[in-house]
Amino acid sequence: LISRRWRVEPTRIDLGDGVVIGEGNFSIMAGPCSIEGEEQIERVVAHLVENNVKVMRGGVFKPRSSPYAFRGLGIDGLKTFHRICRENGIKIITEVMQVSQIEEMIDYVDVFQVGARNSQNFNLLDSLGEAQKPVLLKRGISGTLEELLQAAEYIFSNGNEKIMLCERGIRGYEKAYRNILDLNAVPVLKEKTHLPVIVDPSHGIGLRDYVDSMALAAVMAGADGVIYETHYTPEKAFSDGQQTLNFQESARLIERMRKAYALR
Ligand code: PEP
Ligand code: MN
Repeated sequence: LISRRWRVEPTRIDLGDGVVIGEGNFSIMAGPCSIEGEEQIERVVAHLVENNVKVMRGGVFKPRSSPYAFRGLGIDGLKTFHRICRENGIKIITEVMQVSQIEEMIDYVDVFQVGARNSQNFNLLDSLGEAQKPVLLKRGISGTLEELLQAAEYIFSNGNEKIMLCERGIRGYEKAYRNILDLNAVPVLKEKTHLPVIVDPSHGIGLRDYVDSMALAAVMAGADGVIYETHYTPEKAFSDGQQTLNFQESARLIERMRKAYALR
């Protein structure tokens, strides 16, 4: 169902208030790795509003490699995140980690993110298929494109067509960066499916200094959007500070991506 052979027309996902993700638009989604509190949300929202970015990312349920790391503010954090974003016309994308969270989160979310570690959690995918909320589905840490497409098929075949695919880097042997952002995936996925393709250069390379190069490369590779991490003091971020842009770097990247998209 997600194949271009079944549907040629590109899927566009309407989040309301004129925010449409998919071919014909270039979507920028930005925000911290983790939601940390009211002041942080307000400062990020102000940065996004200033730069005309309509979707804020931020995790409240965090899949962390260590159980002792910060695991997110949970549902209360999501409610604060939602209130401040609604007051400012910003849409929310945040990760759902398990089936039981869907119901408590659904009224406070515009897009559910399925993280790389849950890319093949088939119960979660089935339930998101029934939930009728847009989903950003990340590629697994060592996932093939075929596995990503089949994961999307789980959601679509349950009746939810509002899916975007996300390339976020795959695990390799190179130690100089966190992951290998596989930009080959962009044109290949665009040809194979009618779904929007989004790139996450923050997790894709994992080092702040290189995020903008990879984001710009993603634009030119044909991505329908980019999702990246930004924070007013990345050094103090509760998670993923090493790959997070400060607001100055973020503003510069937004401008450069828009210029690059105009050249495409
Ligand atoms: C994130 O977006 O902060 C995240 C945990 O992403 P991933 O699932 O790609 O590691
Ligand atoms: Mn992160």
